[in-house]
Amino acid sequence: MHQHATYDMLGDMSSAISGSGEPLRTDYRQIEHAGVQSLPAQRTQSESEKLPKWFIITIDTEGDRACPFFGNRWGPLTGRYCSVLHVIPELRALWNRFSIKPVYLASVEVLSSAACVEILKEEQQAGAEVGTHLHIGDAFPCNVREEREYLERITGVYEQAFRSSPHSYRAGRYGMNDGTLATLGRLGYRVDTSVTPNVDWSPQGGPDYTTYPAKPYWVGDILEVPVTILGPRRWWPFKGWTRHRWLRPSVATASQLEAIVDNACDAGLPVLNMTFHAMELVPGASPYVRTFIGTHFYLLRLETVIAHIMARGFEPITLSRLHSLWAQHGVRTKRATVGG
Ligand SMILES: [Zn+2]
Repeated sequence: MHQHATYDMLGDMSSAISGSGEPLRTDYRQIEHAGVQSLPAQRTQSESEKLPKWFIITIDTEGDRACPFFGNRWGPLTGRYCSVLHVIPELRALWNRFSIKPVYLASVEVLSSAACVEILKEEQQAGAEVGTHLHIGDAFPCNVREEREYLERITGVYEQAFRSSPHSYRAGRYGMNDGTLATLGRLGYRVDTSVTPNVDWSPQGGPDYTTYPAKPYWVGDILEVPVTILGPRRWWPFKGWTRHRWLRPSVATASQLEAIVDNACDAGLPVLNMTFHAMELVPGASPYVRTFIGTHFYLLRLETVIAHIMARGFEPITLSRLHSLWAQHGVRTKRATVGG
């Protein structure tokens, strides 16, 4: 259907980006930004190593939860915002060290808290992007008939808080479909980052992203930037989403994360989209970290993989900036040609 046609076209488009399409590759070399000049250009390097490669960190930014100490379960919202008020300012030193431009995708409760909005505004000043992230109870937003009203509401709350329009969106529980994207387009969004390639959420009533591409692609005027998730892990005893290799410090060791980056480079992925929740750094606020020691090791993993990504020649960027660059530099033209 519509979505599949788009993905097929983008298969072609993506191979052009990763190096097999001569004209587009030339376009990409001409993109002017600080990182292009700093990329190493030895003759021994493969062509794909010389292309600008982009690194995005998307951070789901929600209220803290009270999670049980044992078991892989999320608990209820506590009404506290430690992850925004304390964790986000503390991460700033790490972002500055690597010139990272994080994208905070904020839920409606965060956007409604004046104290949280103040912190996020400071982040914007420092080069971060703030977008929206819609949860509707435990439902996948794309299954809810009133999804459009919820999207209008969260966008309105954002505009009230920031006096500007959000450009980037992620659905709660990654629950997105073509209807969602059409609504986002009407509301002025430019980027969606709800697609989790390889992962099938349909057993829980969500979308099945098994056949979706790992590289960014256009759906109308919206640039879809999937979360970086490679195929299944070997020797992994559990079923479900943790079986897949997410570029996500929550469920992988530092060396596993580095291997994911290396494999993504080998596959010619032009964009890495690492993700996590801000609350994962607060002990007990997510199922991933229970103690302060857990937070310490989480931060070590985060720092190690960022250093590795930077060493592989990726350039930090925000989602909305990536949208402008891709729209400017021929990627859209390529899609129009391929799609007829
Ligand atoms: Zn969420």
